[in-house]
This record gives sequence, C-alpha cells and structure tokens, in this order.
Amino acid sequence: MKKMRKLGIAVNNMMNEKIAYTFATGFLLFGHAGYILIFFFLGVRPMMIINIFSVLFYIAMLMLNMKTQRYQLILMLEVVEIVIHAIAGLYYMGWDAGFQLFLICVSTIPFFASFKKRRYPLMLAGVDMAIFLSARILAYEWAAPYHNNDSKVMTALYIYNAMASIIVIVYISSYNIFVRELMATRMKKKNEHLQRLATIDPLTELFNRRAMMEYIKIIDKKASAEKLNYNICIADIDDFKKINDTYGHDAGDEVLKVVSSIFIKEVPSEGYVCRWGGEEIMFAMPPGNDDMAIVIAERIRAAIEAHEFDIDGKKIHVTMTFGVCRVRPEENYDSGITRADKRLYDGKRSGKNMVVAV
Ligand code: GH3
Ligand code: MG
Ligand code: MG
Repeated sequence: MKKMRKLGIAVNNMMNEKIAYTFATGFLLFGHAGYILIFFFLGVRPMMIINIFSVLFYIAMLMLNMKTQRYQLILMLEVVEIVIHAIAGLYYMGWDAGFQLFLICVSTIPFFASFKKRRYPLMLAGVDMAIFLSARILAYEWAAPYHNNDSKVMTALYIYNAMASIIVIVYISSYNIFVRELMATRMKKKNEHLQRLATIDPLTELFNRRAMMEYIKIIDKKASAEKLNYNICIADIDDFKKINDTYGHDAGDEVLKVVSSIFIKEVPSEGYVCRWGGEEIMFAMPPGNDDMAIVIAERIRAAIEAHEFDIDGKKIHVTMTFGVCRVRPEENYDSGITRADKRLYDGKRSGKNMVVAV
C-alpha cells in the first residue's frame, strides 16, 4: 500500500513536469502556426518558410517530450529557436515589428533551467544581451526588405510579439512557483515523516521514551516556575510474559496495541502518553487538576480489565497495574519518575490490577 502510494506520487511528479513542458511546447507550436498565417497575409515569404520549419521543429520537440525526459535539452533547443526566429524577424521586418522583445524574454529562461554550474545562465544572458545590443545597433542603418509601411500593420505585429513574449515569461515564472511549492510540500512531508520516526514508537504508535522526556522537561520547568504540581503515571501489563508464552509473541504485540489505544482514548489531549519500555506505558498530565491523573488511571485500569481481547478467536482478559506520582514544584522530575515506578511495584507486590497513588 505504502509502495503504491510512493509510486503514485512519483508518477504524479513526472506527469506534472511532462504536462508543463507539453503545454509550453504546444503553445509555441500554435504561436508559430499563427505566424505562418500572419506572414502569408503580409506576403513575407522567407518568414513564412522559417515558420513552417519552426512548426516542424516544435512537433519534433513534442515527440521528444513525450518519449524522453530530457526537459533541459528541450528547453534550451526551444530558446535557440526563439532567438533565431527573433533575429530572422528583425532581419526581414525591422525593429518596429517588435521581434527583439523575444530576446529580452528568453534571457530569463536559463535561470529557471537546472544547470550544474551557476555561471551558465549568467553567461547565456550575457550572450543574449550582446545579440540584442548588436541587433539594435545594426538595425539603425538596416533597410529591412519586408518592412511594412502601414504603421497599423506594424503595430498589430508588435502587439502579437509583445503578447507572446509576456505569455512566455508569465508561463515560465508561474511554472517555477508551482515547482517551488511542490518542493516545499515534499520537504515538509519528509520532515514530518522524519520527526515521526524520531518520536513515535512504531508498534503502539505512542510517543517514545525520548519524546516523553522532552515533554516532561517542559512541564517540569513550567510547573516549577508557577509553583504547581503535575502528575506522572507509569503502568505495566500484569503477567505479560505469560501472554507471550501462552499465545505467542504476535498475540502479545496485539495486546500491547489495544492497550495503547485505550490509553490514547482515555488520556485527555493536554496530557501525553508514551511507551516507556517493553510493556510499560507512561502518561503525564500538566499542572491543573491534581487528582485528575488518579481518576484517569483508574478509568484506564477498569477499561482494560473489562476489555475482551480477541486472540485468534480466543477471548482473553488482561489487567494492568499503575503507579501515580504527584511531582511537587521543588522536586526534580527524576525523583518523580522513581516514585511512580516504586508505587507501580508496590501495586505488583500487593496483588496487581490496581492504581497506587500514595
Ligand atoms: P508483571 O506482572 O510482574 O509485570 O509480570 P510480566 O510477566 O508482565 O513481567 P516480565 O518483566 O517478567 O515480562 C515482561 C515481558 O514482556 C517480557 C518481554 O519479552 C515482553 N515484552 C517486552 N516488550 C514486548 C513487545 O514489544 N512485544 C511482546 N510481545 N512482548 C514484549
Ligand atoms: Mg508486566
Ligand atoms: Mg515490565
């Protein structure tokens, strides 16, 4: 089940990247198909032919995108295509058609690609800037062969180019926000998982002893500062060895799990329950109602005594002995734990299945 879920997430992430690149390449394909029509109506034959090749190029990129995962290569090839197309547009139609806008927008793309070396995007942006500036200087005296003298036509073309450039930037930026959020969510999940592994006992799903010690140190400090008592209770399953010996270790594990779930149900949310050792469970209650811990321990004791454990169809009964200690503000938590432990063993000696609080 867990494996399936992991696989599901992996497929999902892969699909996300594939879909994002397919969408971008598809968008560029349609953009260039648009140019074929535009240049057809404007009678700019060389640009029409270039765009037919561009469309074929993007079809090839779509196929490469479907068959491989070489997104970085695809992205950089597409950047090269955009730059060549922009230079061709400037060459045939001149500066006021707005093809130089693509040179500005592509300069950002290498920063989003995951290059091994940090200086590569900077270098590529430098090359791009050099191309832009050279084009500007050359355009100064350049008589573009297909320059259209109708300023409305040139403005419309400029707007088409500007819109396409803006869409490229917006798309790449929003895709990267999406990737960043995906990474953050994955990191958060991983941290939570690690945190869980470090603090939760896998069999009983209770906190482990280390997590409990952290918690006790916190409430001990708070209780000392506020001059209040808090309570610790240690409980141990009676004759657990006999359960293991009679019904097997797995049956013992099952009993431990059910007993733990009873603790979780009965200890209020402000308290803290842990697996203290083998078949010992501890709970602690923060300062508040001083007699609460005894009441809770008695409730758990009665619930366990009343519970019918189903072990391979056999109904068995289990009992538990509890030692409760009220830790005073001037007292150290270590001595509190020792006293709770001592009371637990007083209970064992006096016949088990009881709560000892004095
Ligand atoms: P008492 O009433 O005095 O507590 O007797 P007991 O038999 O419960 O105590 P003892 O300390 O003699 O035995 C505890 C047993 O608990 C021994 C150990 O193998 C078993 N145990 C400890 N951890 C686990 C566990 O995770 N699963 C199982 N199945 N048994 C465990
Ligand atoms: Mg025991
Ligand atoms: Mg024990």
